[in-house]
Amino acid sequence: MKTIGLIGGMSWQSTITYYKIINETIKEQLGGLHSAKCLLYSVDFEEIEKCQSNGEWEKSGNILSEAAISLEKGGADFIIICTNTMHKVVQQIQSKITVPIVHIAEATAEVLIQSNIKKVALLGTKYTMTQDFYKMKLINRGIDVLIPEESDIEKINSVIFEELCIGIVSEKSRNEYIRIVDKLSGKGAQGVILGCTEIGLLLNQLDVNIPLFDTTVIHATKAALMSIEK
Ligand code: GLU
Repeated sequence: MKTIGLIGGMSWQSTITYYKIINETIKEQLGGLHSAKCLLYSVDFEEIEKCQSNGEWEKSGNILSEAAISLEKGGADFIIICTNTMHKVVQQIQSKITVPIVHIAEATAEVLIQSNIKKVALLGTKYTMTQDFYKMKLINRGIDVLIPEESDIEKINSVIFEELCIGIVSEKSRNEYIRIVDKLSGKGAQGVILGCTEIGLLLNQLDVNIPLFDTTVIHATKAALMSIEK
């Protein structure tokens, strides 16, 4: 079994989900008392969020690169960054290590293609929804990406940082998200990417009438399966 290196803590609420899914997948695949071999480097999210809101992406990349170097030294065979947003600096991190980083948007694009989705809505932080680093991974694979309108982008983003990342799951915010998904579905989205690793804590498939693609589930499952690939 290969050792998975996780860069987590962004936020730790979703890192818990990663750890759970990875171990559940290994148990499902191998049975018995099997569990995942993994290393977790969990950062201080306050520090990372400050870099994001100040536009200090290179600084945040340096912090995550240090984490990746530690994971590689510790024996990780490959690395996953447990957040969509911080894939903005994935190349900077990859340039500091030799083991591969499994990209969350690439893993998601594979699943969308398998599911024959041609037009998808993207929910995530304002950085993920409005900047190119994430969307281009989908567009380059022939998938059209719809994002919410400006006031809805603000709503989604504030729920992520002011609620989900600190463990608050509210019915009111769930209803707001459902309203936004319905609007995007009306604009032709065949599915929705939960492109922030905490959104799955709020929204699930029963809440909406188009398929949800939860990046946490997709990314964690892929990592687990890769760790036991022959
Ligand atoms: N976990 C989130 C994501 O997947 C948001 C936290 C962050 O800004 O890194 O993008």
